[in-house]
Amino acid sequence: MKIIMLGAPGAGKGTQAKKIAAKFSIPHISTGDIFRANIKNGTELGKKAKTYMDQGLLVPDELVVDLVVDRVNQEDCRDGYVLDGFPRTIPQAEALDKALAELGQKVDYAIDVDVPDENIIRRMGGRRACVTCGATYHLEYAPTEKDGICDTCGGGLILRDDDKPETVKKRLSVYHEQTQPLIDYYTNAGILKTVDGTADIEDVFRAIVEILGA
Ligand code: AMP
Repeated sequence: MKIIMLGAPGAGKGTQAKKIAAKFSIPHISTGDIFRANIKNGTELGKKAKTYMDQGLLVPDELVVDLVVDRVNQEDCRDGYVLDGFPRTIPQAEALDKALAELGQKVDYAIDVDVPDENIIRRMGGRRACVTCGATYHLEYAPTEKDGICDTCGGGLILRDDDKPETVKKRLSVYHEQTQPLIDYYTNAGILKTVDGTADIEDVFRAIVEILGA
């Protein structure tokens, strides 16, 4: 089961991707998480990616594509995976299709978690991320047990630079320009499924599980 999650930043695709991965025991591959781990570890890739991420821009395709193609070729991806945050441009989608075609494989589902911009702006301001382990929370929708402290590792919580209001607006315009064309791309491929991302997390998940026929 090879699944791509589409949707604007803050639509909740990461939350749903994690739930899908857990239910079907397949890896959750988030390019945003991979970049953030690289930034934290001070790698060359992290340094390059950070300059784009902090401005709400996409990291150039050439820094993303090989990384993802290598990852989906690993042993644990044999029975499928959920890609969260990739592809984000038409060239990335084409590169993925080409790499999979060489292995005689293809993407099975592209799930669009659909949320209007105004809901996104409201949601993102409440997002908090753990400085230590990267776990994400929401002041209103997914609060931690203790204020400002990560439930998983006890680390401190911050509003990520890329979740700040100015950056969110930039990310939304980048999304509409560069990522939304993927909706047509996967519609044409006959694998696009849309779910209403304004519903409760569990309701969105139920809709996705139904689409996946499980
Ligand atoms: P995310 O956590 O998926 O919202 O990603 C955070 C940031 O990482 C994005 O705003 C981009 O700057 C960068 N990023 C993540 N995935 C990609 C991708 N597939 N292509 C380009 N940039 C990406």
